[in-house]
Amino acid sequence: MSELLKVAGLCTGYGQMQILWDVALDIQAGERVVILGANGSGKTTLLKALVGLLPTWQGTIEFAGESMNKLRTDARIRKGVSYLSEVGVVGSLSIEDNLRLGGYHLPRNQVALRMEQMLEAFPELNPRRKESAGSLSGGQRKMVAVARALMSGPKLVVMDEPSAGLSPLFVNEVVEIVKKFESEQMAFMIAEQNIKFLDVADRVFVLDSGRILFSGTVAQLQEDDTIRKAYFGIAT
Ligand code: ATP
Repeated sequence: MSELLKVAGLCTGYGQMQILWDVALDIQAGERVVILGANGSGKTTLLKALVGLLPTWQGTIEFAGESMNKLRTDARIRKGVSYLSEVGVVGSLSIEDNLRLGGYHLPRNQVALRMEQMLEAFPELNPRRKESAGSLSGGQRKMVAVARALMSGPKLVVMDEPSAGLSPLFVNEVVEIVKKFESEQMAFMIAEQNIKFLDVADRVFVLDSGRILFSGTVAQLQEDDTIRKAYFGIAT
């Protein structure tokens, strides 16, 4: 596996308030990494810094061997980073149009083909493809958001709490969907407090008060007493 993302010494925050302290992490091509952390630990802040929605105060963010520090969000997306925020979809647009938005950077002749692949991967959405996303249930809307994030065939999908607001059933479904795309060699970085997502993780980084407290495999995480006590109490 080759290194896709490498973050070193990352510090950032809001105004005068520093939130992230010296964060270091890396993701290999095709790897699935979970950033585990409680509410307020800085997960969203970290993802925003990675996609360029927050400036990097200090440190480096390299993607496929090149610095992204100075790139705006749209340029980072064109390089192959896709961001699934907590917010998600455009309710007034149909499922198809939401997916088209996700395929914005794809060559035109590939959009229709990729859309069919997505609707095949999300069979529940297929019969409702012309309906407005706003008419769907919360879980289905989340599916549209995930499908949209995958539309462009990104190298790295960054997901901010995909489980937020979802029933356990839907959480399982999102986990299964992530597995479905294994063959495409997309890397996933999933910020979560729901440990269900550890089922799909190759490695885990635990974020605590804006610092990386642990990094390693899921098995190593489960062997670490301090971390286990602190994080495996978290509800699934
Ligand atoms: P959650 O699971 O609640 O989304 P999180 O781990 O994603 O939590 P962040 O949203 O990154 O955590 O928040 C980290 C810290 O930054 C918190 O103390 C929060 O109050 C603060 N924070 C977040 N957004 C802002 C903002 N726009 N301005 C100032 N402080 C902020």
